[in-house]
Order: sequence, then structure tokens, then C-alpha cells
Amino acid sequence: MKAFRIIADHIRCATFILGDQRGVTPSNVDQGYILRRLIRRSIRYAMQLNIPRYGIVEIASAVIDQYGDVYPELEENREKVLSELKREENRFADTLKKGIKEFNKTAANARDGKIDGISAFHLYDTYGFPIELTMELAQEKGITVDVDGFHEAFAEHQKKSQAGATQRFKSGLADHQEATTALHSATHLLHKALRVVLNDDTISQKGSNITAERLRFDFSFPRKLTPEELKAVEDLVNEQIQRHMPITCEEMTVAEAKAQGAIGLFESKYGERVKVYTMGDFSKEICGGPHAENTGDLGHFVIKKEEASSSGVRRIKAVLEK
Ligand SMILES: [Zn+2]
Repeated sequence: MKAFRIIADHIRCATFILGDQRGVTPSNVDQGYILRRLIRRSIRYAMQLNIPRYGIVEIASAVIDQYGDVYPELEENREKVLSELKREENRFADTLKKGIKEFNKTAANARDGKIDGISAFHLYDTYGFPIELTMELAQEKGITVDVDGFHEAFAEHQKKSQAGATQRFKSGLADHQEATTALHSATHLLHKALRVVLNDDTISQKGSNITAERLRFDFSFPRKLTPEELKAVEDLVNEQIQRHMPITCEEMTVAEAKAQGAIGLFESKYGERVKVYTMGDFSKEICGGPHAENTGDLGHFVIKKEEASSSGVRRIKAVLEK
């Protein structure tokens, strides 16, 4: 009988794959997929013949008895082979129960004796029915499946999920941009706050590094800051944030910027135009931007660390909490 032979062949083959040292197990890719199809086809035939559940496990056990002498790895891996088969049978039983119901509905609605590609894809996508299984079931009912349509629906779905990934990537970039922009604005507030709290107008920026998670600001200062000073700097920055001050940008010459008391790097050539960012009445700094629109958008400023960077240069790491 054809079904018996198919079961015997498939289970023998599956037993050898599972018993192999390479350790292939049923899955949806590559060799794992081939193995899964062998096992699931056997189970389906076994069901048709009313072979009880785990019948294929007994068949596999018999295969190992028969070949174990010649292929000792089968005997060594007996436990693993049988438990993998059992697990796959359980997984398949769950899938089948739900999927067969859906398949029968789909088959009943099939027009011109043909299941359309989108329905076949739905069986695959939602119930894990491989297209081969849908085809076999359709054949038993004397109907066909639009296989080309299935592959089109499959490709369309992949395109969409890739577009979704691109969208997620883009919004991730936007979030990143927003976070770094806010931290950059906080850096300006920090710079000015240090000058105010330490009462030193010669403090200047020696480096700045901003990620989406934190800011790092290096500045000229001869000694370690006390906890009280750090707290005062933190408080002063948060005060400016709570004042919800607009952040504006103006272009002017370096001379004009200097005249207005802007701080920042005056490396540009004399007469060249630079951007000056102003935060209310608190901070004015030459900078390329970009910045947040209002200090109120920054969140809560927290200094995480103050340490030496190099001789005469201190380093502060800080974050903005929501
Ligand atoms: Zn800046």
C-alpha cells in the first residue's frame, strides 16, 4: 500500500537525519525544513490510516532496532531522535487542528475548483501550512491551488515587511536625532551654568561628544568640582529648562557675535558669518546646530560623572531623563 511505503520511507530518512552527529532538527529553514516536511507528511498519512498518535515514534524505534548495529550513532542518539519526533508530532497536531478547519472553509469557498493564492498564503502565514500541505489536501478534495498566486502573495508580503523595517529604521533615526539635538542644547546650558556656578568666564569648551544616550563635555578648569558645585550646576540647568525659553538662531559676523557676548569657538575667519544660538537671556553661543526649539523640551538634566580628562581639563557626562 502506497501510504505505508511513504510512511516507512520518510520515517527511515527522518530517523537517519535526526540520528546524525550534525544535529539537524525540524525547523522552517534549509535542512530543518526538509526534515519537517518528511515528518509531517508521514504523520498525515499515519492519520489517514488511523495509526494512533506517536505511531511514527514506534516506527522510528523499529528503524533504530534494525539499523543500530551497522549505524551505531542511531543507537547512541535513540533518545534524542524519538523525543524530537514526539515534539514535532505535538507541534504539528496543534497546527493541523486549527489549520484544517480553516482549510475546509477555504476549500468550500474555492471558485472554479481552485484555491486562490492569497487564501493559500493565509493558510501558510497564519496556520503554518506549507504550500505542499495545502496542495496535498486540495488534491484529496479534487481541487487545485493557484501556486503562482501563492508565490506572488508571499513575495508581496516580504516586500511589505521589508518596507515596515525601513519605516521602523527611519523613525528610529528620527528618535535618535531628537535625543542628540536635545542633549546638544543641554550642553550649551551646561557650558554657561559652569561659568556661572564656578564664577569663571575663562572656562571654555575643550571637547564635546554626544550620543543618543548622553552628552560628554570637556572644559578647561584646574581642579575637581565639589559635589555642592555639581549639584548647583545641575540645578541651574534644570531651572533654565523649566523656564521654557525659546531657542533661536541668528547669522552674524564673528565680530558681531563677540560684541554680543557670545561664547564658543571663535576659530572662523574675521568677517565670516556664523550661526549664534540664543537660549532666552541665559546662553548665547556660536554653534552650527541643530538645537531643540525650546529649553522646555529637554527633560530633566542629570550629571552622571565628573572626572579629569587631561591636565587642566575636566569632563562631565550627563543625561536627560524624560
Ligand atoms: Zn552647540
